[in-house]
Amino acid sequence: MTHLTLPTHSPDTAVAAEARGLTKVYGSGQTRVVALDQVDVGFARGALTAVMGPSGCGKSTLLHCMAGLDTVSQGSVRIGDTELNGLRDKQLTRLRRDRIGFIFQAFNLLPTLTALENITLPLDLAGRRADQAWLDRVVSTVGLTERLAHRPTELSGGQQQRVACARALASRPEIVFADEPTGNLDSRAGAQVLEFLRSSTRDLGQTIVMVTHDPVAASYADRVVFLDDGRVDRELHAPTAEQVLEVMASHAHRVH
Ligand code: ADP
Ligand code: MG
Repeated sequence: MTHLTLPTHSPDTAVAAEARGLTKVYGSGQTRVVALDQVDVGFARGALTAVMGPSGCGKSTLLHCMAGLDTVSQGSVRIGDTELNGLRDKQLTRLRRDRIGFIFQAFNLLPTLTALENITLPLDLAGRRADQAWLDRVVSTVGLTERLAHRPTELSGGQQQRVACARALASRPEIVFADEPTGNLDSRAGAQVLEFLRSSTRDLGQTIVMVTHDPVAASYADRVVFLDDGRVDRELHAPTAEQVLEVMASHAHRVH
């Protein structure tokens, strides 16, 4: 596995992003919800990590807090060696733009642009030139070389989501967060997206954190972190879909 052979100069460089004592509270009084409760978690560089857990357990909140898309109530989040807490708005915007990629369940492609134009749009908006060698590798890994001139309506759902994945990777971000990236896809198209995400970690050294509720999707991951009620519950390394299902079943039977 790629991430095990990368040079690690100190224990920290093996971790691309980390939360410590991360607590997120929404609302107050009667509507108060503790979405994350003292979460400690790190995401290994060059690895594909899946985040799972029952609906409402805090998966999206964790991703949003880690990606600087939402503020934290308590605790700390760092991307690389940058602590998000201390950043001003402008610095946070720049960090999100330059160092983080995000993939949503909805592909959010612009219909009037070709696949390639969609992929390079964030770079174009930032006024940055694409690293052509990197872009070529992303596009060939995503398997869309022959489809680059097509518009989204001329692509299947799986191809559209792979364009969205390539867009998230185009700027070579330190870490990519994906919130149920295969949630809108049938299993065949989902498998293509998952193959791409996995090979982008194995072949390109990309770091990916992916929320999913699908045990088959989770089985593509190097590691699965299970959340329950805003807490890290347990984790599995290189699991099979059956092992993931077992943990999910034990959650479902637990009395809260
Ligand atoms: P998941 O992605 O695991 O389904 P979420 O992270 O979306 O869960 O939500 C965790 C908890 O926080 C849920 O109880 C949800 O209702 C609550 N929550 C999420 N976002 C907000 C918000 N913007 N305002 C109030 N409550 C929220
Ligand atoms: Mg969610």
